[in-house]
Amino acid sequence: MIEKIKQKIRMEIGKDIKAALNREVYDALTSILNEEINIHWEKTNKKYKEIESKQVYYVSMEFLIGRLLENNLLNCGLLDITNEALIKLGFNPEVIYSMERDPGLGNGGLGRLAACFLDSLASLQYPGHGYGIRYRYGLFEQRFVHGNQIELPDYWLNDGYAWEVRKAEEAVCIHFNGIVHMFKKNDGNLEFKYENTDKVMAIPYDIPIVGYQNNVINTLRLWSAEPLLHEKNDSSNEVNHYHDLGHQHSIEQISGFLYPDDSNYEGKLLRLQQQYFLVSASIQHIILNFKRNHSLSLFHLSEKVVIQINDTHPSLAIPELMRILMDDEGFGWEKAWDITSRVIAYTNHTTLSEALETWPKEMIRQLLPRIYMIIDEINERFCKNIWYNHHHLREHIPKMAIIADDRIHMARLAIVGSFSVNGVARIHTEILKNKEMKYFNVMFPERFNNKTNGITHRRWLLKVNPELSHLITDIIGPEWIRRPKQLISLLKYTKDHSFLEKFDHVKQKNKQSLANLIHERTGIIVDHQSIFDVQIKRLHEYKRQLLNVFRIINVYNEIKNNPNLDMIPRTFIFGAKAAPSYHLAKEVIKLINKVATMVNYDPDIRGKIKVIFLENYNVSLAEKIIPAADISEQISTASKEASGTGNMKMMMNGALTVGTLDGANIEIKDVVGDQNIFIFGLSAEEVIHFYQNSGYNSIDIYHTDDRVRRILDQLHGGEFGTHEIEFKDIYYNILSNNDPYFVLKDFEPFIEIHELVEQAYRDRWTWLQMSVTNIAHSGKFSSDRTIQEYASEIWKIKQV
Ligand SMILES: *Cc1c(COP(=O)(O)O)cnc(C)c1O
Repeated sequence: MIEKIKQKIRMEIGKDIKAALNREVYDALTSILNEEINIHWEKTNKKYKEIESKQVYYVSMEFLIGRLLENNLLNCGLLDITNEALIKLGFNPEVIYSMERDPGLGNGGLGRLAACFLDSLASLQYPGHGYGIRYRYGLFEQRFVHGNQIELPDYWLNDGYAWEVRKAEEAVCIHFNGIVHMFKKNDGNLEFKYENTDKVMAIPYDIPIVGYQNNVINTLRLWSAEPLLHEKNDSSNEVNHYHDLGHQHSIEQISGFLYPDDSNYEGKLLRLQQQYFLVSASIQHIILNFKRNHSLSLFHLSEKVVIQINDTHPSLAIPELMRILMDDEGFGWEKAWDITSRVIAYTNHTTLSEALETWPKEMIRQLLPRIYMIIDEINERFCKNIWYNHHHLREHIPKMAIIADDRIHMARLAIVGSFSVNGVARIHTEILKNKEMKYFNVMFPERFNNKTNGITHRRWLLKVNPELSHLITDIIGPEWIRRPKQLISLLKYTKDHSFLEKFDHVKQKNKQSLANLIHERTGIIVDHQSIFDVQIKRLHEYKRQLLNVFRIINVYNEIKNNPNLDMIPRTFIFGAKAAPSYHLAKEVIKLINKVATMVNYDPDIRGKIKVIFLENYNVSLAEKIIPAADISEQISTASKEASGTGNMKMMMNGALTVGTLDGANIEIKDVVGDQNIFIFGLSAEEVIHFYQNSGYNSIDIYHTDDRVRRILDQLHGGEFGTHEIEFKDIYYNILSNNDPYFVLKDFEPFIEIHELVEQAYRDRWTWLQMSVTNIAHSGKFSSDRTIQEYASEIWKIKQV
């Protein structure tokens, strides 16, 4: 490796290695690695073609893949020798790897899940690929100015992107707008022609997805929007030229930027264009591939292809596949429907009403006239089916119809057009079946199923926590790397003090590294022996960062009252981006920053607590925080968090969960046992009961709990602000809007559970034992398990 790097630098930039810049070493390494990858990439594709295996296509508006160099070196089995080589050549491997931009092509959990799935598919040797959009601007970069979030554009392609390969020859054409003509053919069937459509080219950029030490390279294909070639340079005069530039710009806008909303619906025309652009390009390509690889009729599509749509964002795949089968391939409705609804499977990610996608039907009719006709027909037939064949559901047709109140309900479309509908954790799937989608579940009970989310243990343990990984391998052997359930062998060592000692040592080192990073980025010195109490995730009311802040203010008030309070020092660590238009979320960011300033510089506190809010939470930052976490805050209002995956990442690195009975927390509790997790607060049933029957009054708690009253009065009285009304919106949301996420209701239980946390932490061996027990059970939450379940229960695909 040393020689290869030296030679690369000499050949490509004519420099001696001693004079090479970090960025140049990074470029050399990616180039060396790409040569290796390309060989196996071609072989993998050839193999898939030869054996004519069934392929799964994971279609998603977001892929939050993180940096790839270190990950690809690891999966290629070259990480150790590369690290050694870099050190010998006088470079710091960490610095070299951080030269790579972290592509922010997703908002949070949903996009990160897609990335973990790709890693597991390749590592388990499944023929599975991703389709997404190559946004020129990823998720904004977050900065704090006077405690406020400001958003900077993320032009991540600035220095080029080493892992993508442009495949101009595989471009496809997408049609928007125009009019549809209907003809009756001689055989009596209808024929459809489109006229005056606006055409957009979809150019694929392929990214290799490297399996773990198995020579499998799958593909993540990201589509980029460009004008048609002959339209690009067809400007005979200046007026036209500028017109063309405007035209070109509006087309390129389609893959221009990622919408920065997490679990929230944005009804913008451009977003609809993005969705159809992704879907049409992907489906066209899937059909093309099918024809290339098989001599079968498209009637057999479902034997060779399965399409998993990640949430409803790509649900236009259903009418798009119908369109191609009927208008281009000549199938009649019945056959086209039969094919489509055996190929598409849908994953639901939320029951939050504000996240449910519905589009104005006029918008779809204008932009996608033929697609609109097909959706209309699907809806007609579906409603008739209920009316004639499901009498007991007749009265519920208004709640089931795909087109209702002049809007198109995408989740309903997705359920009706799919053969599988899955939730992402047990409780979430139960809520779908028994509440949100209950009538659909009555009609199609065989469609509904659960696939609890997972995370790739290769990135989230092996790569981010090499010292812990070595320690685990030393004691139980390397088997867990290929079969993460083997981590369970660690249970034998939970009372082995010499092992626990070593484990503690690794955790301390990780905490020291994070403390260094915190110091570099914020100038604040934190005590690496304090409890690192971590909440990192998108900022959302339902995730209740506010509950966490209220607790911090409460501790602060207590210390001010009693400066000699006996407590273990704590460092509260936050990372969170708010959607730019989400006012209340931004207020909470400002509040956390205000509280941080107040706490961190108050001499009375004497370092007992520190509050650190790191800017620009993303995959790279998560990778630095997670190995250092002692406590993982997973405190969503019960019933609101579909699964969560941050909870799994931290558990796998030995953090103990403080959480509500929500999402996958429940399944974490099931495996680790009540004594190894800190559960508090309202249950989902109680929350749902309150929503349905009221009976909760936040004001009552304000009047009865002195601590709560003090905190809210501080908010209102300007103690945290520069003026009295600074945090009035938070204040009124809690007291006048009756605290829709039950922050006050869960406040006391939250304080109490943290008293238990502190007690547990005081007993070092018990704490370490709990921590190792969590790691031992975390194998269940590897996305390898999740993917095996998708593969055998939904996709019916085999490992090659
Ligand atoms: C894992 C991850 C998430 C999801 O976190 P949750 O706590 O499950 O909401 C969001 N963003 C990033 C960068 C992640 O790595």
